[in-house]
Amino acid sequence: MKHILPLLSLLPSLVLTTQLPPDPISPQIRSRWMRTAIDALSLLKSTPCPFDAFGAAIVNHTTSPEGTLICIGANSLRSDGNPTLHGEIAAINNCSALFTDAGGEYRLSMREALDAYAALSIYTTAEACPMCSAAIRQAGFAEYVYATSTKTLIELGWPQIDIDSAEVFRRSGRLARETRFVGGVLAEETDGLFKWQFQEGGECPAGCERVGRECLVSQGHDEL
Ligand SMILES: [Zn+2]
Repeated sequence: MKHILPLLSLLPSLVLTTQLPPDPISPQIRSRWMRTAIDALSLLKSTPCPFDAFGAAIVNHTTSPEGTLICIGANSLRSDGNPTLHGEIAAINNCSALFTDAGGEYRLSMREALDAYAALSIYTTAEACPMCSAAIRQAGFAEYVYATSTKTLIELGWPQIDIDSAEVFRRSGRLARETRFVGGVLAEETDGLFKWQFQEGGECPAGCERVGRECLVSQGHDEL
């Protein structure tokens, strides 16, 4: 028994490194849905330069590789006074409300709603924080796709918890379902959404101009 116990203690890390097959979805389709996550910001926050530029889109790729949009969400902790409403959590809340709406399109039972996430992919404009990474794994999403990395956010001065989502995923191997992990999709576009909030003189997103510490909608730019 003596030499078995150390081996058993290694098992969790072996289980956690299970590899999924290569990404079956094309980069073009990944980019298209990431744009939907970006667009969720202007749709839900009514400005091209929201402070918390964390948007998310939840997509079903199981019926066709092109995918179908299920719901969107955007960080709304400032407008709702709820510190957990990051973009990913807001999108999950929106999807579950849709799934279980007795008069809606899906009319799923609570159990069916929970199971539905196994078929879904979440796209998010920035790498999920530890809370959202855990929620994504607890939900059992089929896929998690992000744009701007936590490393970039921290370099830009964002007060992020310094645990990347890969670390949370690596420690989630005991959960029933696996989640494909795709990072950096369209980061060259989303990085620009996060450059002004904590960088003195940082460039504003398109359609906005700096007024003191803020980026505000440019004169002549139509409010969304
Ligand atoms: Zn989060």
